[in-house]
Amino acid sequence: MSIQVKQVTKTYGIQKALNEVSFNIPSGEVVGFLGPNGAGKSTMMKIITGYLPPSAGEVEVCGMNIADNTLDIRRKIGYLPEHNPLYSDMYVSEYLSMVAGIYHLPKPDARIREMIGLTGLTPEKHKKIGALSKGYRQRVGLAQALLPDPKVLILDEPTTGLDPNQIVDVRELIRNIGREKTVMLSTHIMQEVQAICQRVIIINKGEIVADNRSEQLSAST
Ligand code: ADP
Ligand code: ADP
Repeated sequence: MSIQVKQVTKTYGIQKALNEVSFNIPSGEVVGFLGPNGAGKSTMMKIITGYLPPSAGEVEVCGMNIADNTLDIRRKIGYLPEHNPLYSDMYVSEYLSMVAGIYHLPKPDARIREMIGLTGLTPEKHKKIGALSKGYRQRVGLAQALLPDPKVLILDEPTTGLDPNQIVDVRELIRNIGREKTVMLSTHIMQEVQAICQRVIIINKGEIVADNRSEQLSAST
């Protein structure tokens, strides 16, 4: 199993955002995490990526406990947060160099070129991030998440706020990436799951309410 979530509960003060959530995602699967705003999607993703400690329960990624927080495990998980704090004054290639440094990548320049090509950023690489459209900034986020060649990619609402053409492009990019990685993406849009994912886990009010192959979605809703 690539991602194992075991009985995870998260409370913020008296607010329970996740209530004993468990699921397994095997290696190579592309899974949609579907639910309305406030369901607990971002909280779950922050816990899977190690950014937020659970109140109870545990998460293993590639057989390693996320609580150990080693560089080894961080390199295995690529994360695109919903509100990705990109540095708008930095050039695209400069920003990716900084991220490569954080991960101590052995051959950063070759890897950065490869990720710029993969995410379709070649014409933009000498631009400042702040000058890019939201769709292109999302590509920078994907390039950043993919830099350490993670096994698992966690994408929080990757197309929210993009215009329709950008949505088509970013979905296509995620589909291509999903051929080689385990992907979990959150969304409140069912069509997004149908366009990209093999499986859908539906969350509402901090609890898993369904877990199906995504082709069954249209039949059951
Ligand atoms: P989603 O990503 O599905 O919109 P979230 O995980 O962001 O859901 O939020 C789940 C619930 O937890 C919501 O009720 C939200 O208001 C609450 N919540 C999220 N983050 C915090 C926080 N830092 N402090 C207090 N409540 C929070
Ligand atoms: P996200 O989906 O990334 O959690 P949000 O816009 O929902 O982004 O929230 C922005 C920040 O505020 C996040 O750090 C989130 O944890 C926190 N937050 C969300 N809901 C609440 C809440 N009800 N009370 C306090 N903080 C919250």
